[in-house]
Amino acid sequence: MTKAIGIDSNLLATNVCETGVSPVEAAWVAIRTGLRKTIGARTFDGWLKPLTLMGFESESGELRLAAPSSFMANWVETHFHEHLLQAWRAMLPGVRRLTVEGSAEAARSSEAPVAQIAEITPLPAAPAAPLVAAGDSTPFEPRYNFDTFVVGKANEVAYNAARTMAEGGTLGFNPLFLHGGTGLGKTHLMHAIGQDYLAHHPKARVVYMSAEKFMFEFVSAMRAKDTFSFKQWLRSADVLMIDDVQFISGKESTQEEFFHTMNELISAGRRLVISADRSPQDLDGIESRILSRLSWGLVADVNPADFELRLNIIVKKLENMPQANVPHEVVMFLARRISANIRELEGALNRVVAYAMLSGKPIDMEFTQTTLADVLRANQRRVTIDEIQRRVCDHYRIRHAEMSSARRAREVARPRQIAMYLAKQLTPRSLPEIGRRFGGRDHTTVIHAVRQIEKLRATDAELDADVRLLLRQLEG
Ligand code: ADP
Ligand code: MG
Repeated sequence: MTKAIGIDSNLLATNVCETGVSPVEAAWVAIRTGLRKTIGARTFDGWLKPLTLMGFESESGELRLAAPSSFMANWVETHFHEHLLQAWRAMLPGVRRLTVEGSAEAARSSEAPVAQIAEITPLPAAPAAPLVAAGDSTPFEPRYNFDTFVVGKANEVAYNAARTMAEGGTLGFNPLFLHGGTGLGKTHLMHAIGQDYLAHHPKARVVYMSAEKFMFEFVSAMRAKDTFSFKQWLRSADVLMIDDVQFISGKESTQEEFFHTMNELISAGRRLVISADRSPQDLDGIESRILSRLSWGLVADVNPADFELRLNIIVKKLENMPQANVPHEVVMFLARRISANIRELEGALNRVVAYAMLSGKPIDMEFTQTTLADVLRANQRRVTIDEIQRRVCDHYRIRHAEMSSARRAREVARPRQIAMYLAKQLTPRSLPEIGRRFGGRDHTTVIHAVRQIEKLRATDAELDADVRLLLRQLEG
């Protein structure tokens, strides 16, 4: 199954010996299956099925695909680039760029010869670059709706605001400014707003586009000396959503135009949703009058998901994968360890499931750890002994100095043992090193503490609950 293609050797080395398939190939199979469902079998078979995987370069994050002809490569690039890139990123977060080249070799090896293409019903003309929805055509990702969005403490403000935006009643705020780190659900919420609003107002015009697209369109209009119709078009939107506006900041003429338009839309009572990877105050080079305009609206941050939310998200995603048999232990493990963002969490789950299907192996802890070795490494949070000591002291309300003191009273000795135990579990430090950090104790004292806590965890439910809570807090 391993063809001589430029697949990244690190990734290969991680997993290929285990299952005989590289993660990149496994991802490709899963992506094809997923895309066939989301974009429809006809479109898929016509345009995407003939694509072949050429290689992945982990340094640059470039993933290369090939189509049987340059015409097809072109078509795929213009119509499916974003779709493919998103799908790849969800499976392999390391993919940053995607190229589709026209290749004679791909034509020969592909199942769909070029001659067949003429028979394929042409796709409906794709809308010009920006995603515009009016009436029956919706350009939104169907999976990104409110039902599939799991709500928790980290995102409830943003979620409630998004729902209010979508309902279409009187708004107490406008614009809605969503901000938060990458992969936390901002785009998902925007697509959900768009789809929900259209469900309530089928005749409405909902415009969604990335800030990059906005700039591209604007600059093209300027070149063609026709910014008027571009502006008209923007202003005709009932809902205008611009994703990732951090890319607009600092680019003067586009910024000016964007915020000017924003102002007009708000004054005209149109709905505006903006997202960025940081708060309005932290956007570079945005004029203060624009900032104050932004703050009239609702600024909602989307925070990194806590353990509970991560767990609920996995459970929800598994509801839609009835064929996947993922044991409870693995679900907990993923929720605990993949904490960077939800895109990665989702990608990790997809990868494990796809990979198990391909290799015919059951999903257990060992399989999960091997399959996700690279993602797990990247998600490893460096917990320090100092951090552990502070958390434990906070929890038991004792002074930090007690961690190093010679006092043996139970109320300080037990927390000290717990801290040593956690240091052993969560840091790569050796026993003598840990002993040194606890007031110069001997390594045998540390061993004793670790054994003692292990024993107590099995018999003392209250202590076990404390340890679990601390583990969760420290692992993020
Ligand atoms: P952002 O735009 O903030 O970078 P996305 O909206 O693209 O993030 O989300 C990344 C992935 O994580 C998407 O596939 C999305 O469906 C999923 N996701 C994020 N938050 C949630 C959530 N609360 N519930 C379910 N899926 C989520
Ligand atoms: Mg996004």
